[in-house]
Amino acid sequence: MGMTTSASLPTGPEGAITGDTVTDRLVEANERYASAFTDPGMDARPVLRVAVVACMDARLDLHAALGLELGDCHTIRNAGGVVTDDVIRSLTISQRKLGTRSIVLIHHTGCGLESLTEDFRNELELEVGQRPSWAVESFRDVDQDVRQSMQRARTSPFLLHTDDVRGFVFDVRTGLLREVDPA
Ligand SMILES: [Zn+2]
Repeated sequence: MGMTTSASLPTGPEGAITGDTVTDRLVEANERYASAFTDPGMDARPVLRVAVVACMDARLDLHAALGLELGDCHTIRNAGGVVTDDVIRSLTISQRKLGTRSIVLIHHTGCGLESLTEDFRNELELEVGQRPSWAVESFRDVDQDVRQSMQRARTSPFLLHTDDVRGFVFDVRTGLLREVDPA
């Protein structure tokens, strides 16, 4: 078994979650968290003036992996860490209303999007009778995927600061970041 956390679930003989639902477990963990919490008195502007855009992958602990503390950064996550229109929306608010200047993009090895294709949209359409408006954003070459996201951020007309946009691949086996050359 892997790491355990304060919200870890007890499991039955076949890995089934026993007792409370997962959400109940999270709410209980929050009660413990809040009981030890003291108001840090921060405002909403990230201290390091950086926005991190990363994949939602459960193996990527952004704060630990990057030495980030509470209040340091904005974290924007989705499947793949892809710079979509909605990520541009968040980055625009982050820069124009909350003072961030730098953008860090983090994709990773073993991403679930590598095993998908745009056919996923066809499968969904066949199953539910409606075609999703969004692209799957699947990819085969993780470096190229990072470059595409860097390019989308750098060329967005809505962002104020596009001079410090850097992209990385996080190795889920070693915990190390590798920077991707934007060229
Ligand atoms: Zn991923």
